[in-house]
Amino acid sequence: MKKRIVVLGGGESGVGAAVLAKVKGYDTFLSDSGKVAPKYAAMLDEHGVEWEDGGHTESRVLCADEVVKSPGIPNDAPIIVKLRSKNIPVISEIEFAGRFTDAKMVCITGSNGKTTTTLLTYHILKEAGLDVGLAGNVGRSLALQVATGHHDVYVIELSSFQLDNMYEFKANIAVLLNITPDHLDRYDHKMENYVAAKFRILQNQTGDDSFIFWENDPIIAAQLKRLKVEARMYPFSEQYDPEAAAYIDPDGEMVLRGGDTDLVIDKNDLALKGLHNMFNSMAAGLSASILDIKKDVIRRALEDFEAVEHRLEYVRTLDGVRYVNDSKATNVNSCWYALESMTTPVVLILGGKDKGNDYSEIEKFVKDKVHAIVCLGVDNGKLHSFFDGKVPVVEDAGSMKEAVDKCRAFAHEGDTVLLSPCCASFDLFKSYEDRGCQFKACVNALEEKI
Ligand code: ADP
Repeated sequence: MKKRIVVLGGGESGVGAAVLAKVKGYDTFLSDSGKVAPKYAAMLDEHGVEWEDGGHTESRVLCADEVVKSPGIPNDAPIIVKLRSKNIPVISEIEFAGRFTDAKMVCITGSNGKTTTTLLTYHILKEAGLDVGLAGNVGRSLALQVATGHHDVYVIELSSFQLDNMYEFKANIAVLLNITPDHLDRYDHKMENYVAAKFRILQNQTGDDSFIFWENDPIIAAQLKRLKVEARMYPFSEQYDPEAAAYIDPDGEMVLRGGDTDLVIDKNDLALKGLHNMFNSMAAGLSASILDIKKDVIRRALEDFEAVEHRLEYVRTLDGVRYVNDSKATNVNSCWYALESMTTPVVLILGGKDKGNDYSEIEKFVKDKVHAIVCLGVDNGKLHSFFDGKVPVVEDAGSMKEAVDKCRAFAHEGDTVLLSPCCASFDLFKSYEDRGCQFKACVNALEEKI
Protein backbone atom coordinates (compact mmCIF):
# COMPACT_ATOMS: atom_id res chain seq x y z
CA MET A 1 0.00 0.00 0.00
CA LYS A 2 1.13 3.51 -0.77
CA LYS A 3 2.29 5.56 2.18
CA ARG A 4 -0.32 8.17 3.11
CA ILE A 5 0.85 11.74 3.61
CA VAL A 6 -1.65 14.15 5.10
CA VAL A 7 -0.83 17.84 4.96
CA LEU A 8 -2.44 20.18 7.48
CA GLY A 9 -2.79 23.77 6.33
CA GLY A 10 -3.40 24.92 2.78
CA GLY A 11 -1.15 27.97 2.55
CA GLU A 12 2.17 28.37 0.74
CA SER A 13 4.06 25.68 2.62
CA GLY A 14 1.20 23.17 2.92
CA VAL A 15 0.24 23.31 -0.73
CA GLY A 16 3.90 22.98 -1.71
CA ALA A 17 4.23 19.90 0.51
CA ALA A 18 1.06 18.35 -0.90
CA VAL A 19 2.19 18.88 -4.49
CA LEU A 20 5.58 17.38 -3.68
CA ALA A 21 3.99 14.37 -1.97
CA LYS A 22 1.75 13.82 -4.96
CA VAL A 23 4.60 14.19 -7.45
CA LYS A 24 6.57 11.62 -5.45
CA GLY A 25 3.68 9.15 -5.70
CA TYR A 26 2.28 9.19 -2.15
CA ASP A 27 -1.37 8.80 -1.29
CA THR A 28 -1.83 12.52 -0.52
CA PHE A 29 -4.53 14.49 1.27
CA LEU A 30 -4.58 18.13 2.39
CA SER A 31 -6.88 19.46 5.09
CA ASP A 32 -7.35 23.04 6.25
CA SER A 33 -9.58 24.14 9.12
CA GLY A 34 -10.03 27.55 7.47
CA LYS A 35 -10.48 28.54 3.86
CA VAL A 36 -7.97 27.60 1.16
CA ALA A 37 -7.29 30.62 -1.06
CA PRO A 38 -8.40 30.26 -4.70
CA LYS A 39 -4.85 30.31 -6.06
CA TYR A 40 -3.86 27.40 -3.82
CA ALA A 41 -7.08 25.50 -4.51
CA ALA A 42 -6.30 25.76 -8.22
CA MET A 43 -2.77 24.49 -7.65
CA LEU A 44 -4.03 21.47 -5.70
CA ASP A 45 -6.59 20.65 -8.38
CA GLU A 46 -4.04 21.04 -11.13
CA HIS A 47 -1.85 18.41 -9.47
CA GLY A 48 -4.77 16.13 -8.66
CA VAL A 49 -4.34 16.44 -4.88
CA GLU A 50 -7.43 15.55 -2.82
CA TRP A 51 -8.19 18.26 -0.32
CA GLU A 52 -10.79 19.78 2.02
CA ASP A 53 -11.22 23.06 3.84
CA GLY A 54 -13.48 24.43 6.55
CA GLY A 55 -12.52 21.67 9.02
CA HIS A 56 -10.54 18.46 9.46
CA THR A 57 -12.34 15.17 8.71
CA GLU A 58 -10.70 12.99 11.33
CA SER A 59 -11.29 9.74 9.49
CA ARG A 60 -9.23 11.08 6.57
CA VAL A 61 -6.51 12.67 8.71
CA LEU A 62 -5.91 10.18 11.49
CA CYS A 63 -5.17 7.36 9.01
CA ALA A 64 -1.99 9.14 7.86
CA ASP A 65 1.38 7.43 7.98
CA GLU A 66 2.97 10.83 8.33
CA VAL A 67 1.65 14.38 8.66
CA VAL A 68 3.19 17.56 7.33
CA LYS A 69 2.06 20.47 9.47
CA SER A 70 2.08 24.12 8.45
CA PRO A 71 4.07 26.28 10.86
CA GLY A 72 0.99 28.37 11.68
CA ILE A 73 -0.77 25.46 13.40
CA PRO A 74 0.20 25.32 17.08
CA ASN A 75 1.43 22.04 18.55
CA ASP A 76 -1.48 22.03 21.00
CA ALA A 77 -4.18 22.27 18.30
CA PRO A 78 -6.69 19.45 18.98
CA ILE A 79 -5.94 17.64 15.73
CA ILE A 80 -2.20 17.63 16.47
CA VAL A 81 -2.80 16.33 19.98
CA LYS A 82 -4.87 13.48 18.51
CA LEU A 83 -2.18 12.66 15.96
CA ARG A 84 0.43 12.56 18.71
CA SER A 85 -1.70 10.27 20.84
CA LYS A 86 -1.76 7.86 17.91
CA ASN A 87 2.01 8.18 17.49
CA ILE A 88 1.68 9.49 13.96
CA PRO A 89 4.82 11.47 13.09
CA VAL A 90 4.27 15.19 12.49
CA ILE A 91 6.96 16.98 10.50
CA SER A 92 7.46 20.37 8.90
CA GLU A 93 7.34 21.16 5.20
CA ILE A 94 11.08 21.90 5.17
CA GLU A 95 11.81 18.53 6.77
CA PHE A 96 9.69 16.81 4.13
CA ALA A 97 11.16 18.73 1.19
CA GLY A 98 14.72 18.19 2.44
CA ARG A 99 14.34 14.46 1.79
CA PHE A 100 14.06 14.99 -1.95
CA THR A 101 16.96 17.30 -2.71
CA ASP A 102 20.70 17.21 -2.24
CA ALA A 103 21.05 20.95 -2.79
CA LYS A 104 23.18 22.88 -0.31
CA MET A 105 21.04 24.47 2.39
CA VAL A 106 21.81 27.89 3.85
CA CYS A 107 19.35 28.26 6.74
CA ILE A 108 18.76 31.48 8.60
CA THR A 109 17.04 31.89 11.93
CA GLY A 110 16.93 34.34 14.84
CA SER A 111 14.33 36.46 16.58
CA ASN A 112 14.89 39.44 14.29
CA GLY A 113 16.54 40.01 10.94
CA LYS A 114 15.72 36.67 9.30
CA THR A 115 13.97 38.05 6.23
CA THR A 116 16.51 40.79 5.67
CA THR A 117 19.47 38.42 5.99
CA THR A 118 17.81 35.77 3.85
CA LEU A 119 17.14 38.23 1.05
CA LEU A 120 20.61 39.73 1.36
CA THR A 121 22.25 36.30 1.20
CA TYR A 122 20.10 35.32 -1.77
CA HIS A 123 21.05 38.56 -3.51
CA ILE A 124 24.79 37.93 -3.08
CA LEU A 125 24.56 34.34 -4.32
CA LYS A 126 22.47 35.40 -7.30
CA GLU A 127 24.91 38.15 -8.22
CA ALA A 128 27.67 35.57 -8.00
CA GLY A 129 25.84 33.54 -10.64
CA LEU A 130 24.87 30.58 -8.44
CA ASP A 131 21.75 28.55 -9.25
CA VAL A 132 19.97 29.53 -6.04
CA GLY A 133 16.40 29.28 -4.73
CA LEU A 134 14.78 31.40 -2.01
CA ALA A 135 12.50 29.56 0.41
CA GLY A 136 10.98 29.37 3.87
CA ASN A 137 9.03 32.30 5.19
CA VAL A 138 9.99 34.35 2.14
CA GLY A 139 9.62 33.34 -1.46
CA ARG A 140 7.95 30.16 -2.63
CA SER A 141 7.84 27.09 -0.46
CA LEU A 142 10.86 24.82 -0.55
CA ALA A 143 8.64 21.81 -1.25
CA LEU A 144 7.09 23.37 -4.33
CA GLN A 145 10.48 24.32 -5.71
CA VAL A 146 11.79 20.81 -5.10
CA ALA A 147 8.65 19.35 -6.72
CA THR A 148 8.83 21.45 -9.83
CA GLY A 149 12.49 22.24 -10.46
CA HIS A 150 16.05 22.14 -9.24
CA HIS A 151 18.50 24.50 -7.61
CA ASP A 152 22.05 23.88 -6.45
CA VAL A 153 21.63 26.00 -3.33
CA TYR A 154 18.64 27.17 -1.29
CA VAL A 155 18.62 30.10 1.08
CA ILE A 156 15.91 29.36 3.62
CA GLU A 157 14.39 31.57 6.30
CA LEU A 158 13.40 29.37 9.23
CA SER A 159 11.15 30.52 12.03
CA SER A 160 11.20 28.69 15.33
CA PHE A 161 7.84 27.15 14.35
CA GLN A 162 9.39 25.57 11.30
CA LEU A 163 12.34 24.34 13.32
CA ASP A 164 9.98 22.76 15.85
CA ASN A 165 9.06 19.89 13.58
CA MET A 166 12.42 19.20 11.97
CA TYR A 167 14.33 16.04 12.84
CA GLU A 168 16.55 14.65 10.07
CA PHE A 169 17.02 17.84 8.07
CA LYS A 170 20.48 19.34 8.01
CA ALA A 171 21.63 22.87 7.26
CA ASN A 172 24.97 22.94 5.47
CA ILE A 173 25.30 26.52 6.63
CA ALA A 174 23.28 27.50 9.70
CA VAL A 175 22.92 31.16 10.67
CA LEU A 176 21.66 32.17 14.12
CA LEU A 177 21.33 35.96 14.23
CA ASN A 178 20.09 36.63 17.76
CA ILE A 179 17.63 35.39 20.37
CA THR A 180 15.27 37.69 22.24
CA PRO A 181 11.91 36.77 23.75
CA ASP A 182 9.23 36.40 21.07
CA HIS A 183 6.26 34.09 20.53
CA LEU A 184 6.61 32.79 24.07
CA ASP A 185 2.90 32.05 24.04
CA ARG A 186 3.72 29.16 21.69
CA TYR A 187 6.46 27.84 23.99
CA ASP A 188 4.62 27.39 27.31
CA HIS A 189 5.92 30.87 28.21
CA LYS A 190 9.30 29.25 28.79
CA MET A 191 12.29 31.00 27.25
CA GLU A 192 14.33 27.78 27.34
CA ASN A 193 11.84 26.09 25.01
CA TYR A 194 12.12 28.93 22.52
CA VAL A 195 15.93 28.91 22.75
CA ALA A 196 15.96 25.14 22.22
CA ALA A 197 13.78 25.52 19.12
CA LYS A 198 16.18 28.07 17.66
CA PHE A 199 19.19 25.85 18.34
CA ARG A 200 17.56 23.06 16.39
CA ILE A 201 19.12 24.77 13.41
CA LEU A 202 22.33 22.96 14.43
CA GLN A 203 20.89 19.48 14.53
CA ASN A 204 22.57 16.82 12.39
CA GLN A 205 25.41 19.14 11.42
CA THR A 206 28.85 17.54 11.08
CA GLY A 207 32.38 18.89 10.89
CA ASP A 208 31.82 19.59 7.18
CA ASP A 209 29.05 22.08 7.95
CA SER A 210 29.20 25.65 9.18
CA PHE A 211 27.57 27.62 11.96
CA ILE A 212 27.47 31.43 11.77
CA PHE A 213 26.28 33.26 14.88
CA TRP A 214 26.40 36.56 16.73
CA GLU A 215 28.91 35.92 19.50
CA ASN A 216 27.86 38.88 21.67
CA ASP A 217 24.28 37.72 22.06
CA PRO A 218 24.11 36.72 25.74
CA ILE A 219 21.50 34.03 25.19
CA ILE A 220 23.39 32.43 22.31
CA ALA A 221 26.67 32.65 24.24
CA ALA A 222 25.13 31.02 27.32
CA GLN A 223 23.56 28.21 25.33
CA LEU A 224 26.81 27.53 23.48
CA LYS A 225 28.55 26.90 26.80
CA ARG A 226 26.15 24.03 27.35
CA LEU A 227 26.40 22.49 23.88
CA LYS A 228 28.94 20.66 21.83
CA VAL A 229 28.81 22.07 18.32
CA GLU A 230 30.02 19.72 15.58
CA ALA A 231 30.08 22.30 12.78
CA ARG A 232 32.84 24.76 12.00
CA MET A 233 32.08 27.94 13.93
CA TYR A 234 31.99 31.39 12.32
CA PRO A 235 31.21 33.94 15.03
CA PHE A 236 30.62 37.56 14.09
CA SER A 237 31.18 40.30 16.59
CA GLU A 238 30.08 43.86 17.20
CA GLN A 239 33.63 44.87 18.11
CA TYR A 240 37.17 44.00 17.11
CA ASP A 241 37.88 40.37 17.91
CA PRO A 242 40.85 38.66 16.28
CA GLU A 243 39.15 35.30 16.80
CA ALA A 244 35.89 36.23 15.07
CA ALA A 245 35.18 35.46 11.43
CA ALA A 246 33.76 38.95 11.00
CA TYR A 247 33.64 42.03 13.20
CA ILE A 248 33.03 45.78 13.24
CA ASP A 249 36.25 47.71 13.72
CA PRO A 250 36.50 50.88 15.83
CA ASP A 251 36.11 53.06 12.71
CA GLY A 252 32.74 51.52 11.95
CA GLU A 253 33.99 49.33 9.12
CA MET A 254 32.74 45.84 8.61
CA VAL A 255 35.57 43.34 8.33
CA LEU A 256 35.10 39.87 6.86
CA ARG A 257 38.17 37.80 7.59
CA GLY A 258 39.68 34.91 5.71
CA GLY A 259 41.33 34.32 2.37
CA ASP A 260 44.32 36.31 1.19
CA THR A 261 42.98 39.66 2.30
CA ASP A 262 40.17 40.68 4.60
CA LEU A 263 37.14 42.30 3.03
CA VAL A 264 36.63 45.73 4.61
CA ILE A 265 33.53 47.82 3.89
CA ASP A 266 32.75 51.18 5.45
CA LYS A 267 29.34 51.23 7.14
CA ASN A 268 28.29 54.16 4.96
CA ASP A 269 28.85 52.07 1.84
CA LEU A 270 26.65 49.20 2.99
CA ALA A 271 23.25 49.30 1.36
CA LEU A 272 21.48 48.57 4.66
CA LYS A 273 21.98 51.07 7.44
CA GLY A 274 22.03 50.68 11.21
CA LEU A 275 23.97 48.45 13.57
CA HIS A 276 21.51 45.58 13.20
CA ASN A 277 22.00 45.62 9.46
CA MET A 278 25.77 45.43 9.92
CA PHE A 279 25.11 42.17 11.77
CA ASN A 280 22.87 41.00 8.94
CA SER A 281 25.48 42.03 6.37
CA MET A 282 28.22 40.15 8.25
CA ALA A 283 26.07 37.02 8.44
CA ALA A 284 25.17 37.16 4.75
CA GLY A 285 28.75 37.93 3.75
CA LEU A 286 30.09 35.00 5.79
CA SER A 287 27.59 32.58 4.22
CA ALA A 288 28.68 33.72 0.77
CA SER A 289 32.34 33.48 1.60
CA ILE A 290 31.89 29.91 2.93
CA LEU A 291 30.36 29.13 -0.46
CA ASP A 292 33.58 30.46 -2.05
CA ILE A 293 32.04 33.60 -3.49
CA LYS A 294 34.71 36.14 -4.38
CA LYS A 295 35.17 39.05 -2.02
CA ASP A 296 34.60 41.69 -4.72
CA VAL A 297 31.24 40.11 -5.58
CA ILE A 298 30.26 40.11 -1.90
CA ARG A 299 31.26 43.74 -1.61
CA ARG A 300 29.28 44.80 -4.67
CA ALA A 301 26.19 42.90 -3.58
CA LEU A 302 26.28 44.27 -0.02
CA GLU A 303 26.56 47.76 -1.48
CA ASP A 304 23.86 47.58 -4.14
CA PHE A 305 21.15 45.61 -2.30
CA GLU A 306 17.79 47.37 -2.30
CA ALA A 307 16.03 47.83 1.05
CA VAL A 308 13.35 45.39 2.08
CA GLU A 309 9.78 46.68 2.28
CA HIS A 310 8.48 47.48 5.79
CA ARG A 311 11.96 47.18 7.36
CA LEU A 312 13.35 50.66 8.01
CA GLU A 313 12.05 51.54 4.58
CA TYR A 314 12.50 55.17 3.61
CA VAL A 315 9.18 56.58 2.34
CA ARG A 316 9.68 60.27 1.58
CA THR A 317 10.92 63.60 2.90
CA LEU A 318 8.34 66.36 3.27
CA ASP A 319 8.99 69.80 4.76
CA GLY A 320 12.40 68.54 5.84
CA VAL A 321 10.87 65.59 7.75
CA ARG A 322 11.86 62.04 6.80
CA TYR A 323 9.19 59.32 7.00
CA VAL A 324 10.37 55.76 7.66
CA ASN A 325 8.24 52.62 7.57
CA ASP A 326 9.41 49.90 9.97
CA SER A 327 6.02 48.22 10.31
CA LYS A 328 7.71 44.82 10.58
CA ALA A 329 9.03 45.87 14.00
CA THR A 330 6.51 43.72 15.84
CA ASN A 331 8.57 43.35 18.99
CA VAL A 332 10.53 45.68 21.28
CA ASN A 333 13.94 44.48 20.19
CA SER A 334 13.45 45.37 16.54
CA CYS A 335 12.26 48.84 17.55
CA TRP A 336 15.41 49.12 19.68
CA TYR A 337 17.51 48.71 16.55
CA ALA A 338 15.38 51.12 14.58
CA LEU A 339 15.87 53.76 17.28
CA GLU A 340 19.55 52.92 17.54
CA SER A 341 19.95 53.73 13.86
CA MET A 342 18.20 57.12 14.12
CA THR A 343 20.47 60.13 13.86
CA THR A 344 17.76 62.83 14.14
CA PRO A 345 15.01 63.65 16.65
CA VAL A 346 12.12 61.21 16.24
CA VAL A 347 8.33 61.24 16.29
CA LEU A 348 7.45 57.61 16.93
CA ILE A 349 4.32 55.63 16.16
CA LEU A 350 3.94 52.76 18.62
CA GLY A 351 1.17 50.34 19.44
CA GLY A 352 -0.98 47.46 18.31
CA LYS A 353 -1.34 44.04 19.84
CA ASP A 354 1.15 43.79 22.66
CA LYS A 355 2.77 40.36 23.10
CA GLY A 356 3.83 40.99 26.69
CA ASN A 357 6.24 43.81 25.89
CA ASP A 358 8.75 45.25 28.30
CA TYR A 359 9.26 48.83 27.14
CA SER A 360 12.13 49.49 29.53
CA GLU A 361 14.40 48.03 26.86
CA ILE A 362 13.84 51.07 24.63
CA GLU A 363 13.35 53.63 27.41
CA LYS A 364 16.80 55.16 27.09
CA PHE A 365 16.60 55.63 23.33
CA VAL A 366 13.08 57.00 23.60
CA LYS A 367 14.14 59.54 26.23
CA ASP A 368 17.20 60.56 24.19
CA LYS A 369 15.70 60.67 20.72
CA VAL A 370 11.89 60.75 20.77
CA HIS A 371 9.96 63.94 21.51
CA ALA A 372 6.48 62.71 20.60
CA ILE A 373 4.78 59.32 20.61
CA VAL A 374 1.58 58.58 18.77
CA CYS A 375 -0.13 55.45 20.12
CA LEU A 376 -1.91 53.54 17.38
CA GLY A 377 -3.77 50.65 18.91
CA VAL A 378 -7.15 49.60 20.20
CA ASP A 379 -5.82 49.54 23.75
CA ASN A 380 -3.07 52.09 24.41
CA GLY A 381 -3.25 51.87 28.20
CA LYS A 382 0.08 50.12 28.67
CA LEU A 383 1.91 52.61 26.45
CA HIS A 384 0.51 55.53 28.41
CA SER A 385 1.33 54.07 31.76
CA PHE A 386 4.92 53.50 30.66
CA PHE A 387 5.67 56.60 28.56
CA ASP A 388 3.48 59.37 29.99
CA GLY A 389 5.73 61.89 31.71
CA LYS A 390 8.85 60.44 30.06
CA VAL A 391 8.19 61.97 26.64
CA PRO A 392 6.78 65.51 26.19
CA VAL A 393 3.87 64.37 24.00
CA VAL A 394 2.04 61.01 24.11
CA GLU A 395 -1.19 61.03 22.11
CA ASP A 396 -3.64 58.47 20.76
CA ALA A 397 -4.76 57.87 17.20
CA GLY A 398 -7.56 55.60 16.06
CA SER A 399 -6.50 55.21 12.44
CA MET A 400 -3.35 55.42 10.38
CA LYS A 401 -4.49 58.67 8.80
CA GLU A 402 -5.01 60.27 12.18
CA ALA A 403 -1.62 58.96 13.33
CA VAL A 404 0.22 60.35 10.31
CA ASP A 405 -1.58 63.70 10.58
CA LYS A 406 -0.62 63.98 14.25
CA CYS A 407 2.98 63.02 13.52
CA ARG A 408 3.16 65.68 10.87
CA ALA A 409 1.86 68.26 13.30
CA PHE A 410 4.40 67.24 15.99
CA ALA A 411 7.42 66.92 13.70
CA HIS A 412 9.87 69.74 13.04
CA GLU A 413 12.21 70.19 10.11
CA GLY A 414 15.09 67.74 10.47
CA ASP A 415 13.04 65.14 12.37
CA THR A 416 12.21 61.59 11.40
CA VAL A 417 8.70 60.20 11.69
CA LEU A 418 9.18 56.52 12.41
CA LEU A 419 6.56 53.78 12.38
CA SER A 420 8.24 51.05 14.46
CA PRO A 421 5.34 49.87 16.58
CA CYS A 422 6.81 47.11 18.84
CA CYS A 423 3.52 45.26 18.47
CA ALA A 424 1.62 42.97 16.17
CA SER A 425 -0.84 44.67 13.85
CA PHE A 426 -3.95 42.53 14.14
CA ASP A 427 -6.05 44.86 16.27
CA LEU A 428 -6.41 47.59 13.62
CA PHE A 429 -4.86 46.07 10.49
CA LYS A 430 -4.91 42.87 8.50
CA SER A 431 -1.18 42.36 8.80
CA TYR A 432 2.06 44.26 9.26
CA GLU A 433 2.16 44.66 5.47
CA ASP A 434 -1.27 46.26 5.52
CA ARG A 435 -0.16 48.56 8.34
CA GLY A 436 3.01 49.55 6.46
CA CYS A 437 1.17 50.08 3.19
CA GLN A 438 -1.44 52.26 4.88
CA PHE A 439 1.36 54.27 6.47
CA LYS A 440 3.04 54.80 3.11
CA ALA A 441 -0.25 55.69 1.43
CA CYS A 442 -1.09 58.27 4.12
CA VAL A 443 2.41 59.72 4.02
CA ASN A 444 2.44 59.92 0.24
CA ALA A 445 -0.97 61.61 0.31
CA LEU A 446 0.29 64.47 2.49
CA GLU A 447 0.42 67.68 0.54
CA GLU A 448 3.30 70.09 0.66
CA LYS A 449 2.68 73.26 2.66
CA ILE A 450 2.61 76.23 0.31
P1 ADP B 1 12.32 38.70 10.81
O1 ADP B 1 12.16 38.04 9.47
O2 ADP B 1 13.23 37.92 11.73
O3 ADP B 1 11.06 39.13 11.45
P2 ADP B 1 13.07 41.16 9.44
O4 ADP B 1 14.27 41.14 8.58
O5 ADP B 1 11.74 41.06 8.81
O6 ADP B 1 13.20 40.02 10.54
O7 ADP B 1 13.11 42.45 10.36
C1 ADP B 1 12.14 42.61 11.39
C2 ADP B 1 12.39 43.85 12.19
O8 ADP B 1 13.61 43.71 12.93
C3 ADP B 1 12.56 45.12 11.37
O9 ADP B 1 11.96 46.15 12.11
C4 ADP B 1 14.04 45.30 11.27
O10 ADP B 1 14.41 46.67 11.11
C5 ADP B 1 14.56 44.71 12.58
N1 ADP B 1 15.83 43.99 12.43
C6 ADP B 1 16.40 43.56 11.27
N2 ADP B 1 17.55 42.91 11.53
C7 ADP B 1 17.72 42.89 12.86
C8 ADP B 1 18.72 42.35 13.74
N3 ADP B 1 19.81 41.69 13.28
N4 ADP B 1 18.55 42.54 15.06
C9 ADP B 1 17.48 43.20 15.54
N5 ADP B 1 16.51 43.75 14.78
C10 ADP B 1 16.62 43.59 13.46
